[in-house]
Parts: sequence; structure tokens; C-alpha cells
Amino acid sequence: MNKMTTDDILTADTHLIQSFANLHALKQDGARTAIVAAEGAHVTDSEGNRMIDGIGGLWCVNVGHGRPEIIDAITEQLKTLDYYSTFYNFTHPAAAALAEKVASLAPGRLNNVYFGNSGSVANDTAVRVLHHYNNLRGKPQKKHILSRMGAYHGSTHMAMALTTPQYAEGWGAVEGLVTHLRAPHKYREAPDLSDEDFLAELEKDMLDAIHRIGADNICAFFAEPIQGAGGVITAPPGYHKRMHEITREHDIAYVADEVVTAWGRLGHMFSSQDVYDYTPDIITTAKGLTSGYQPLSATIISDEIHEVISGPDAMFLHGMTYSGHPAAAAAGLANIAILERENIPERVRTTGKRFESNLRGLIDMNMVGEVRGSHFMIGIEFVKNKDTREEFAADAMIGLAVSRACQERGLIARALGNILILSPTLIMDEPMIDDIGAILRESIETVSDGLG
Ligand code: PLP
Repeated sequence: MNKMTTDDILTADTHLIQSFANLHALKQDGARTAIVAAEGAHVTDSEGNRMIDGIGGLWCVNVGHGRPEIIDAITEQLKTLDYYSTFYNFTHPAAAALAEKVASLAPGRLNNVYFGNSGSVANDTAVRVLHHYNNLRGKPQKKHILSRMGAYHGSTHMAMALTTPQYAEGWGAVEGLVTHLRAPHKYREAPDLSDEDFLAELEKDMLDAIHRIGADNICAFFAEPIQGAGGVITAPPGYHKRMHEITREHDIAYVADEVVTAWGRLGHMFSSQDVYDYTPDIITTAKGLTSGYQPLSATIISDEIHEVISGPDAMFLHGMTYSGHPAAAAAGLANIAILERENIPERVRTTGKRFESNLRGLIDMNMVGEVRGSHFMIGIEFVKNKDTREEFAADAMIGLAVSRACQERGLIARALGNILILSPTLIMDEPMIDDIGAILRESIETVSDGLG
């Protein structure tokens, strides 16, 4: 397949529907990039350009591309047992061993793992499990969910309802089941308040919603430790711990969507407890669980919830053909072995901090309004006017212009409106980190100069 020329690929690609794309413009303007190979922290396109993978595939290739250990584990697994399900009374070694491993790494009493094949499915599973749990507890009305503006929880119908409403514009989403609280984004929501005062406002927003809807009607609060696809939004210090206390006080389950923030990206296997000091009732995760070598997600459920859903009168009527697929589970085990053996989360505490402070240095540039995020999860917001925080018009496509300038200089970065997202592999060394900083500075300068 690598023998296909760029023209061959783009001709065939007319039949492929890309995700989150303006399909019309995409097929017209020829700006598609065909990635044909990848190794370590780099990818190569069909024209032979080798570039730093500044977005780690899609915030997922944590251990880097082309790891023989993972590829061999998948191959060996397929030779021994290509497929069997985990339905009914069936299990198999890879799924069982990975569930045990994930449970041993997850915080608190999160000891029970349901595998799916995407982050969206992990979040849908969490919703179904909590609805079932509340039915079994004799609280069938406790179904409503609190989420937040700026959230991204996936693209299945339910996960999209949890996601910030802008993503469903022109499509529609499940109605009536989700209330979106304020985004915890001080720069845009409350620039003039102190962190403490903004946190007090966010607490009030949550409590008002609970009183309005009624705690007896709410089953869950969904939150990413750092909002990723919403623009890498970090909440004020103490936010998650306080929101967690509020959920405790009102018998509402806290679901931490760690699809991106787990598996070393913020310097720990999971970030909810180790970085933000709270233990959720459910963690959903995917991406770095296999570093993207196989599609796999996990919904990790507390013993308290599990005791109810595995009670004598309960029946777990939920299942996906590929839940715990042997090849995906083998990839997960090999990937976690690398994360542990190479101490990747610990190393990220140094390298990721260098990356973060390097990129934070771009704040001295004219067009850069805010640099936010943590370790290897960074967002750069471009503004027309730094003092007033005035945004560029959407059709200025500033993020896209900067990402294209980066790509010409050998770095893939992701544009999201006026925001540029960087989430590289976690194996970046110091020279590579410094290269990214330099490429970004030059690219931003070029676009900024072009604006006149
Ligand atoms: N949750 C978060 C925080 C994500 O960033 C994503 C995807 O980017 C998802 C859920 C959905 O995961 P998937 O695309 O694997 O369905």
C-alpha cells in the first residue's frame, strides 16, 4: 500500500469520509496530507516529508510510533487466539490480564474494568452503567447528567450530548438528559476575577443546577481533568477536588474522562488522583491505553457501583463484539509494560515541564493571548488584541494558517479555530522539544507578519 503515489491516494480518498472536516472544502483544495509511515516521534507523508508528530497521532501515541514490542505482542496474540468474545461465560488471557493490570494502576477502589473500542463508547458505557445502577438502587428517576461547556466526550449520540453543544451544531444531540455547567476557563469566562472568586462562581453554578434539577434526578457529573478538544482548558486550582466534594454531598457519581489525561501525558498513569487529588467513581480512558496501536477503551468502575450491578438480581445487558479484543488487550499490556519499564510518566514530569515552559515562553508574541495546559498537553490561543482579548473572526482561520506554517517547517500541530493544540508523543527529548518551540515561534511570526 505504501507504493501508492500521492495522486493514487488522493483519488482513492475521494471515497473516504474524514472526521471533523468540511468535506466539500477538503476534497477541493488539495490540502489533504497522506501519512504513509511513522517511527518514534516522527511521521512521513506521501511526498517523503518527515515531520515531528506534534499531536501524537490524536493525543494517543504516548510511547511513540513503531515499537517492535507492541507490534510483536499483537502478532503473537493473533497467531495464538485471533478473536474470542468476552460475552456470556467466556473470557481469555489477554483481556483478563489487562483488566487486572488496569485495576492495579487505577486509584482507590476502581477495580472493575469494562473494555470498549473508543473513548466515546467508554463514556456511553459509563452512562448506561450509572442508569442501570440507579434503577437497581430503586432510584429510577436519577438519570440526568451534569457536564460542562467546552467539554469533549466523543461522537456517539450519547457522548455527543455530553459534549459542549457547539460540536452538535447543525446535527442535534440527545435532548433533555444533560445540563452543561459553565466552562472552567478563567481567561474567557472571568478574566478579572481571582482564581478563588472564579472557583466560588463555578461552585455556585454547580450547586444552583443541582438545586434546580434536584439531586434525586442527577446520576453523574462528567469532567475531563483538562478539557482537551474544547481548547486545552485548565480549571482554577482546587476545582476538581471541590466539585468532587459537592458530588459526594449529593450522591452524584463523578466520572473522570481520562481518555487523554491518563497513561503518562500529565506525568502519571492517571491524573485525577495523582495530579488533582480526588478519586472519581468511574474513570473512562482510551487512547494512550494502547498508544493507539489498537482501538481500545476502558470504563473503570468503583467497587461500590460494581457491587450493585453484579448483585444477585442484576443482569449486565451491555456488550460489544470487540469488547476486550485479544489483539487490543495484548497491545495494551505491551504498551503499559513500556510505560513502566521506561518510567515514561516519571520522565514526563521533567520533559513535559520543559515542553510546557518552552511553549509558555511564546506568550511574549503579539498574537498569543494565552498558553495553557500542562506537560505534553498544551493549547495556544491566538487573539487579535492581547489587551482586550478580542478574538479573530472565525473566517480568518488563524489556527489553520499557523498549523500549515508549522507543517511546512516539519511539525504537525492541530488547529482548532483560533487555538493551536500540541500533544506530542511522550518520548520527546530536549533537542526535539526545543525544535518544536523554535518552529512554533517562526510559524506564528510568519502568520502574524502576513496580517500586516
Ligand atoms: N473523551 C475525550 C476527553 C476525548 O478527547 C475523546 C477524543 O478525542 C473522546 C472522549 C472520544 O474518544 P474516541 O474518539 O476514541 O471515541
